[in-house]
Amino acid sequence: MNRTRALSSIIVTLLFSMLLHACGSGKEQKDTMQSNFTPPASPPTFSGPRSFSLLEQQVAFGPRVPNTEAHARCLEFFIRFFDSLHVTPELQRFEITGYKGEKLALTNVIARLQPSARQRILLAAHWDSRPFADMEKDPDRSLRPIPGANDGASGVAVLLHLAEILQASPPGIGVDIVLFDGEDYGRDGDESMFCLGAKYFSASLKPNHGTLFGILLDLVGDRDAVFPKEKLSGQYAGDIQNMIWREAARLGLSRFSMETHSSILDDHVSLNTVAGIKTVDIIDAALVGHDKSSPRRQYWHTLGDTPEQCSPEPLGDVGRLLLSIIYGLHSS
Ligand SMILES: [Zn+2]
Repeated sequence: MNRTRALSSIIVTLLFSMLLHACGSGKEQKDTMQSNFTPPASPPTFSGPRSFSLLEQQVAFGPRVPNTEAHARCLEFFIRFFDSLHVTPELQRFEITGYKGEKLALTNVIARLQPSARQRILLAAHWDSRPFADMEKDPDRSLRPIPGANDGASGVAVLLHLAEILQASPPGIGVDIVLFDGEDYGRDGDESMFCLGAKYFSASLKPNHGTLFGILLDLVGDRDAVFPKEKLSGQYAGDIQNMIWREAARLGLSRFSMETHSSILDDHVSLNTVAGIKTVDIIDAALVGHDKSSPRRQYWHTLGDTPEQCSPEPLGDVGRLLLSIIYGLHSS
């Protein structure tokens, strides 16, 4: 995701509220969720350690930077993973011209679970890694790609384990798992080159897709992760955000904070404003721009974004919450 600044954030927020108005998305969707959600009595169990092992497996390929071997091998890993669950993912391939004029080959991975289910939700995370550690102070280190354990692999790790569970115990709704490419390619301040996969996906989506809402995961793996309510999510999808945070409170997940954090530009923006899918970002927002309250947590967009910063517990909390939401939703 992109670091925000107060003024640009206000301008962007204004711009998006105009877009929201212009394309008739978001607010005009019916407020379906409250009536269709009942906390489930006994949803399946989510394993934080299993999810953490899926984080480590992604990081082991090396930084998943577009046009590298690590990126290609990780994509093959996803295909094999979903094949093993008897799901054939759609590979949404597209090209973008990179900063050096090269063609970047990007791929969104879309796994539709229970494809015939009429009511569906979308769960997303980005699988690419940032090509440069531009928050490193040392100029040489700042040119190297980041490991992306938390920034990328953590959200994907939750969604992959979730897919295993949903295939073993199908819920009453369909779930589309979307792994976006090219989220973290852009240089600081160049918003046009961030969130490339989500922008392509959103622009390509057919009308009447029928998706009830979406949840985006980003930076969900830090061992001290805290998830405040991200501001743009509240503006676009406040009812969904409230439902999620209420359920987190009911489950006693204290890392979900009722405080609101300033706007973060992430893959949920185009889902809300272009695709017309109300989407909430679950994100450890204080990490973005470096957490001022913790020296250890100042690794965002540095070479220090490694599995050692992460742990199974936050992944387990996020997975448990998603399972509660999914199995608590029922068709109207
Ligand atoms: Zn990032």
